[in-house]
Amino acid sequence: MIVKKAEHVITAVKPNQYPSTGYPEIAFVGRSNVGKSSIINTLVNRKSLARVGGTPGKTRQINFYNVNDTFYLVDLPGYGFANVSKEMKASWENIIETYLYSRKENNLKLIVLLVDIRHSPSKDDITMNQWIRGFGLNTLIIATKADKISKSQINLRINDIKKVLQLSNTDKVLPFSSEKRIGIEAVWSEIDEKLRK
Ligand code: GDP
Repeated sequence: MIVKKAEHVITAVKPNQYPSTGYPEIAFVGRSNVGKSSIINTLVNRKSLARVGGTPGKTRQINFYNVNDTFYLVDLPGYGFANVSKEMKASWENIIETYLYSRKENNLKLIVLLVDIRHSPSKDDITMNQWIRGFGLNTLIIATKADKISKSQINLRINDIKKVLQLSNTDKVLPFSSEKRIGIEAVWSEIDEKLRK
């Protein structure tokens, strides 16, 4: 993918704020701190299009990034509920659910679930994986921060992630590193394929 243009178009809370251009969308979801902002920046080759590092309030917002005036990368709010109230969790679920329902039929071509390559997927990750597959969406798992383990460990960790998420043989888990720029082509190739369909 040659990225000629990448710009933030809107931070949306409600569906009437989503872009209405009809471009296809590729959405990213994962627990807070998994490296979601970083992967978006890395894919479009920009240092700080998406913010890196937590900001309060981010849990309720959806950010849309226009790429080449042809599609959007969509940054869904991160999860990780150890320290949040029930109300906040419910509000997060509502925001994601509203997005998925309103986009699943037409715009949403692929949802990318990010997990940290170093750890077995958490309960939240497992729930999220089941939830998005329940919508019948194309799903790609990306294992982030691959630079933090040795090359020889990568396949072992990928296999563990597949096992814990109970993926089928045809489901892919791609290793990625924003830091060391690992996996960029493989991820773009998956995105390209879904955009062409
Ligand atoms: P988000 O909360 O999911 O958007 O995560 P961020 O992109 O803000 O990243 C969270 C933290 O992980 C930051 O300190 C990043 O510098 C770090 N990080 C993100 N991606 C990588 C990576 O590929 N390798 C390493 N070593 N650190 C990363």
